Amino acid sequence: MSINYPPSVSGFEYEIAGGNSFDSVRAETCYNEDCKMFEVEDVESDVEIETRYDTEYFSWECPTCKVSRDIENNVEGER
Ligand SMILES: [Zn+2]
Repeated sequence: MSINYPPSVSGFEYEIAGGNSFDSVRAETCYNEDCKMFEVEDVESDVEIETRYDTEYFSWECPTCKVSRDIENNVEGER
């Protein structure tokens, strides 16, 4: 017995195979004007990265002021 998907479905679709996500660390700049790290330097924080094609998606939270922002990072050509 083999698994029967409808003719147009391979079983490797994003919805079936799941997204590719992993935990990592990313350094970003804080844009919160009230934060003492505001545009001082990139600050490293733990993030959960989701990748789709050549783009990383993650929510970066400033460890100092706890304000988060969503980031899209095109990583094409960095591999
Ligand atoms: Zn901050």
